[in-house]
Amino acid sequence: MPREGYKSVAIKESDFKQFQEYYKEHKEMLRKQGITTFAGFVTMVLYEGFDEKNWLTESRQLTHFNVYEDHVTLFDKKLDHLVDVYFRNGKVFCTFDEAEDCDHVRFVFTIPKVVDMLTERGWRIVEGKVLKRPS
Ligand SMILES: [Zn+2]
Repeated sequence: MPREGYKSVAIKESDFKQFQEYYKEHKEMLRKQGITTFAGFVTMVLYEGFDEKNWLTESRQLTHFNVYEDHVTLFDKKLDHLVDVYFRNGKVFCTFDEAEDCDHVRFVFTIPKVVDMLTERGWRIVEGKVLKRPS
């Protein structure tokens, strides 16, 4: 049984061994990234996979509410809360997470109307990724 606040998942032993081998071989590099345990490594890999497939955004059920001159208001069904994402001086900022990069920020870059608006202002966004910001 895992300790309190943790859950265990059963996977094939051969898969487990492969993951563990990778972890052992890259322990030093991972430690520099703040990953100090095998469980932490597995969690990081899962999050990265989710991020790549946009599953987190989908599972959060984000919808865009309104697009304004300098910000977008989203509705986050999971939080049951409106979230504002601002664009100012070539910067983007989520007021809910107080962050420049979060699910909300990544989501607004997938809204065509927002991408068009930002493109007009010198941003370059391709497939949800910011390639260039206005200087
Ligand atoms: Zn956010």
